Amino acid sequence: MDTENLNTEGLAEKDGRYVWHALSRLNPGSQQTSPPMMVVEGSGAWISDTEGNRYLDGMSGLWCVNVGYGREELARAAYEQLQKLPYYPLTMAHAPAAELGEKLGEWLGGADDYVFFYSNSGSEANEVAFKVSRQYHEQNGEGGRWKFVSRYRAYHGNSFGSLAATGQAQRKHRYEPLAPGFLHVAPPDRYRCAYCSDRPACNMECARSIGRTIAWELPETVAGVIMEPIITGGGVLVPPEGYVQSVAEICRENGVLFIMDEVICGFGRTGKRFGHQHYGVRPDIVTMAKGITSAYLPLSATAVRREVFEKFKGTEEYAHFRHVNTFGGNPAACALALRNLQIMDDENLPERSARMGDRLRQELGALEEHPNVGEIRYKGLLFGIELVEDRESREPATPEKVGKVIAGCKERGLIVGKNGDTVAGFNNVVTLAPPLVVSEDDLAFVARTLKESIESL
Ligand code: PLP
Repeated sequence: MDTENLNTEGLAEKDGRYVWHALSRLNPGSQQTSPPMMVVEGSGAWISDTEGNRYLDGMSGLWCVNVGYGREELARAAYEQLQKLPYYPLTMAHAPAAELGEKLGEWLGGADDYVFFYSNSGSEANEVAFKVSRQYHEQNGEGGRWKFVSRYRAYHGNSFGSLAATGQAQRKHRYEPLAPGFLHVAPPDRYRCAYCSDRPACNMECARSIGRTIAWELPETVAGVIMEPIITGGGVLVPPEGYVQSVAEICRENGVLFIMDEVICGFGRTGKRFGHQHYGVRPDIVTMAKGITSAYLPLSATAVRREVFEKFKGTEEYAHFRHVNTFGGNPAACALALRNLQIMDDENLPERSARMGDRLRQELGALEEHPNVGEIRYKGLLFGIELVEDRESREPATPEKVGKVIAGCKERGLIVGKNGDTVAGFNNVVTLAPPLVVSEDDLAFVARTLKESIESL
């Protein structure tokens, strides 16, 4: 892109005047705290701004540009579909949605086991999951099942239902009351676990607490449990071995639908096609977004096991799913998603993510010994580095310290993230989720930069 001809100052001025940025803090008297970086282009794992600075995007945008920037074949797939048929609502059929459904089925491990309802965002995909669950139980003769259990610290979206499912008070405060019927339990978090962090091994109380909550609420009132395979934005909390399987079993025993939020963990991020495939479970509902198109266009999907779908057949007036969105399953987005999955298959990106994740962990070496690093957690190319004031007491690092590390990385050309605005006092996890195409040299750069930024505290 010809950045020389961009009117950089003029654009910054317009941005300050007209654009309200996500999660931005506004100073009285001026629009933003400081003008945000204006990004103009990207290639592979790298982006550049209007000033000509290049950064390795260690967060793939918002954990989503899985195949990296600048993929012409994705632009071409969308362009060709836009020429042929730019739009038709999915009240009718179109070829890209059908082809994508088959491909997603294959990715989920049984092409005919699931059907897909397309939407535009992860939040909407989760809303679909909640509505499908309640109606499924109703049509299954168990209309009293309306509650959902999720975990503190997990994020499930910004709408009134998905935010209610979210276990992050700082994202909910001043917007409540949200949708009723959402209950929360402690997350699996070996490092700070309420049940076992002071014991030599995990005692799996975190999984049992889900069963206990369902029992105490009365199983016949509970519709579903929603969880990510690994809590991502809440601080990259990797569950202990056996946890996900236990939750699946608890759901089965109680007739509760097991809903897997794969919005971040899906599409190779954790080293498999979907995060839950590490644990050999088969969820009733899988929600997906972000990496489905590597974020080149908006698209999300709610995959529903065929047995659940079958319950929506019937002639009774309210038996069908009365939910539609205008843009959901846009043909160009579906065609692009199909090509995106093909790229991931051709380039073995899920497997590459596992390999490169191990490589990055190796490069980070003994960083865990640093006095301000409490724990390094990872699976594939999904990393959380928990910063502390003191390794002994595990007191979370101050926001200033976390901010310094993030700013230090940026000064050195690396974008990293954090679990910002989640739960009070615990926004101390620096996150990394680079594009799955990141090179070994790039990973060495990530590790070196992160180490330098932490060491300069
Ligand atoms: N679920 C998870 C796990 C997420 O991380 C997010 C967004 O970050 C969502 C759902 C909501 O997705 P969206 O921002 O596309 O609505």
